[in-house]
Amino acid sequence: MLSKKTVMRILLIAILIIPFSNLFSQKVIDTLETEDGTMILYSNRTWTYLEDVNFDGVMNEYLYGQVISDTSLHYTQTWDKDLCYTSDLQNDVNELKDTIWMCVQDSIHDNFVIPFDGVVTSRFGWRRGKNHNGIDIDLVTGDTVRAAWSGKIRYAKYNTGGFGNLVVIRHFNGLETFYAHLSNHLVVPNQIVIAGEPIGLGGNTGHSRGSHLHFEVRFYDMPLNPERIIDFKKNEVLDENLLVHRGMFRSGGGSSTAHSSGSSNGKYYRVRSGDTLGAIARRNRTSVSRLCQLNGIRPTTVLQIGRNIRVR
Ligand SMILES: [Zn+2]
Repeated sequence: MLSKKTVMRILLIAILIIPFSNLFSQKVIDTLETEDGTMILYSNRTWTYLEDVNFDGVMNEYLYGQVISDTSLHYTQTWDKDLCYTSDLQNDVNELKDTIWMCVQDSIHDNFVIPFDGVVTSRFGWRRGKNHNGIDIDLVTGDTVRAAWSGKIRYAKYNTGGFGNLVVIRHFNGLETFYAHLSNHLVVPNQIVIAGEPIGLGGNTGHSRGSHLHFEVRFYDMPLNPERIIDFKKNEVLDENLLVHRGMFRSGGGSSTAHSSGSSNGKYYRVRSGDTLGAIARRNRTSVSRLCQLNGIRPTTVLQIGRNIRVR
C-alpha cells in the first residue's frame, strides 16, 4: 500500500514529465529562433515549435474558459493530430441547456472565405439511410480548397473512415471545419492558417463517387448544418453572430450525439402526422423508454413532423 505522500510525489513527477515527453521521444539536435517562435529540430529531421509541444488545443479562451469548462458543460476536445474526432464520444448535445453565442465574422480572426465556390450537390441531413454530416460542393480534382476561417491545422492526412484525404482546422471562433476527399494536402498539423489560405486540392479519395468537397462544420465534434451558418449562394456568413443551441443539432435528423450519426448503424424513423411515441415504439418493436433514451427526449415530448428519431 502506497502512502498518500508517495502517491502525491508520483503524481507530481508525472505532471512534470508528461508535457515534455514529446521532447524526449526523439533526440533534439538543435533549436532555432524564428519569427514564429522557437523551433525544435529533431534527429529524424522533423521539427516542431516549442509552443506546440504543450499546446492544449484551446483556440478560444472565452468559449472554453467561461462556457465549456464551467460546471454545467463538460465537453472535451483534445488536440490530437491522429484522430479526426477528439472528444472520445463524451460530448452529448443534451447537455447543452443554454444558447452559446459565438462570432463567425470579425476582422481580427474570423473573416469567412468560401472553401470552394461551386455548386452544392448534397445537403446536410438525412441521406440514403444515414446522416450526412456536411455539405457537398462540386469541383474538379486539383481545384484549390481554402480555409473557411483562420485557425490552426489539427489533422491533415488520409482517413480510413471514408473521408479520404482529410484536413481538419480548429478555429478561433470555437468551431472545427472538415475538408474531405482531397487529392492532396497543402498543410501540416499545428500550422496556423488564415481564412482563404489554400489547404488542399479537391479530389475523389475515400468514400466518394466523383470529385467533390465534403465540408463539415463541427462544434465540439458535433456536426452542425453548414447552411445554418453560411449562405452558399452569396458565399458569406448568414450573420456575424452564431447562436448555438440544442435544436440546431437535430435539424438534420438522426441521432443527436456526436458520432453515432456518422458511424453507427442506428435505424431511424421519420415522424409522420398523427404519430405517437407509443405507436412508433410498437411499429419498431421497441419501448417508449428506449426511444427516449436513444433520442434524449421525454415521453411527453411533442414530436415534430418530419423529424428523424432513432429507433435502434
Ligand atoms: Zn458529403
